[in-house]
Amino acid sequence: MIKIGQSMHPNWINGDLNKLDEELRQFKDAGAQSCELVLQGLDVVIGARIIESRQDAIIKILRDYDFDYTMHMPHGLNLLDQENLEVFLKIFRVSIDFARAAGIKLLNYHAGRSRIDDKKKPDDKAATDESAKAVEDSANGVNENPNDEAKPDEEVAKPDPKTLIQNEIAQIKTLASNAPDIMFCMENAQFGTEPEISAGNDASGMIDYFKQVDQPNFKLTFDIGHSYLCHNGDGAATLEDMKQLLPYIGHIHLHDNCGFKSDARDFGGQRLVTGAGDIHLPLGWGSLPVEDALALLKDYDGIVNLEIEQRFSAYYSECIALVRENLR
Ligand SMILES: [Zn+2]
Repeated sequence: MIKIGQSMHPNWINGDLNKLDEELRQFKDAGAQSCELVLQGLDVVIGARIIESRQDAIIKILRDYDFDYTMHMPHGLNLLDQENLEVFLKIFRVSIDFARAAGIKLLNYHAGRSRIDDKKKPDDKAATDESAKAVEDSANGVNENPNDEAKPDEEVAKPDPKTLIQNEIAQIKTLASNAPDIMFCMENAQFGTEPEISAGNDASGMIDYFKQVDQPNFKLTFDIGHSYLCHNGDGAATLEDMKQLLPYIGHIHLHDNCGFKSDARDFGGQRLVTGAGDIHLPLGWGSLPVEDALALLKDYDGIVNLEIEQRFSAYYSECIALVRENLR
């Protein structure tokens, strides 16, 4: 049976649990049956450790709602980032503990990514798009370990792409096999204009990754909006990917955009005006073939999680109704 959910907004909640409660109530009133929490924003894992009092307070709120809960790992968590890998793995492990305590059944994470270049400058963090900013924020957050300090003048040779991805697969396999009660889902998240190495770049890379992780509690998240951006607004290509990936998909992310790949900065909503990038619109506001995509989900058994920006909260209920109508 398909359940329809909506993601919380970490930047809006920003640690305020009254706002978490307010969002959950909004989602419930809009007709959602599940909710995707986002680890950052809850302030429950700090310095890769659980703060028990926060965990207790969050669980108390979550129990007031009859949702299926899933959780998005921090957007900056990147298992191809060799410099921060240990702390990212630690965050993954404590997130499993938090998930168990809070009754969260599924952890979603973005496929690791790494710039395509032979050498990497450790201080090269001058990227300007939002996703790169998230990576940077996360890296800054974990860089308090003095051993991790960037050395500006040195260049570090990077392992080859295949080895990096093989390492990522091995790490996920270990995490998943040690937590058979939690579903792990790797999401396609490549939509910037910079070429990057990532198993989430295309359907064949994702299927290959799935087969190599080879755990009963590992599946793929297909973010339909990300795929549409990846294909520069080619809806047929997104539907083709979706058909190919369906046997391996355990989770769906759905939001609209204009199929216009961009690293442009937002400047207070400007990207909405131009329609540039990963703008998480209400369904039907962009050009994603929403109904054709939903028509492919007749045999899907899982959650269709809407990731619509908080500024469009007035439209949650009509988006949920549209999904429900098209899944009938
Ligand atoms: Zn997503």
